[in-house]
Amino acid sequence: MRFDNHTLYRISPKTKEMVQFLKNMEELAYSTGYNFFSGVHQEGVPVDILVPPKELEKFKEILEHDDIDGVLLNTNIQEAIDNEGVSAEVGASNFGWNRYHTYDEISQWLREMVFNYDDKLTLLNAGRTFEGRDILGVKLEIGNRRNRRAVFIEVNIHAREWVTSATATYILNQLLINQDAAVRELAESYVWYIFPVANPDGFVFSHTNNRLWRKTRTRSSILCFGTDPNRNWPYQWMQGGASNQPCSDIYAGPRPLSEPSTAALSNFIDTVGQDLIAYISFHSYSQMLLLPYEHTTRHLDNYNEMLAIGREAITKPCLEDMELHT
Ligand SMILES: [Zn+2]
Repeated sequence: MRFDNHTLYRISPKTKEMVQFLKNMEELAYSTGYNFFSGVHQEGVPVDILVPPKELEKFKEILEHDDIDGVLLNTNIQEAIDNEGVSAEVGASNFGWNRYHTYDEISQWLREMVFNYDDKLTLLNAGRTFEGRDILGVKLEIGNRRNRRAVFIEVNIHAREWVTSATATYILNQLLINQDAAVRELAESYVWYIFPVANPDGFVFSHTNNRLWRKTRTRSSILCFGTDPNRNWPYQWMQGGASNQPCSDIYAGPRPLSEPSTAALSNFIDTVGQDLIAYISFHSYSQMLLLPYEHTTRHLDNYNEMLAIGREAITKPCLEDMELHT
């Protein structure tokens, strides 16, 4: 699928009504051809929307409304896709962070890392996807400190968010090789579980067929494929920010854990859940740090602590563009 002359806009809704209007637009995006690069949250929080050429005139009329601000970011996203760079070479020796890698390359790199660091890394396989791919991850344990808590890093559950699996493999590599004292301390203080590609079927499809594919690849209706696996978890399923329309990009699935990939991951997480001190899910794009909950404005028990950690994190110089949304 190509996206010639699809135009990227950053829009900012100013009222609750406009937020609701955009949410409706997001739910119907499959029929209009819009692609929502970032989710619709609340007034003042920008949303990036890719507008297909046939909708452009209508979209410009929406922009004339007082309740919305818009900025043009890119007039032809296909050019950006063409210039993205995907590695054609396979093998750990060619693995790096200057190009994007395929599912097979990431899997092979993980296996080779486990082979090379067999005293620190264990290969994990949470189970099979709908199309029969393995959901690979690693358990990282360095040193022999006792009673360590675990950090779970779940990545690239949305297929097109390639930079997140690149981030996860980078983090894994840094935890192994970086000699900075603070990084060593972090690496050795916890047990790390890292699953760099949580939605392999969708990820492969985003490489082979449609760069903007986001969901899984199960058949969700006569016309449409895929469930949003990030909205398929059982906790508070369909209680906010999700759609029951099978064609929607935010379709939560016919029931919780309907997707083999989320069911497999959920089963695996259950086996380590009591050890976890943190669960981090990487998404792109948007410069945001999101804290639970989504289904209610009620706060987590440790909300204040989470907020303090979040504020600390986003003031790091490398994250200066980050906004905290709670
Ligand atoms: Zn995402």
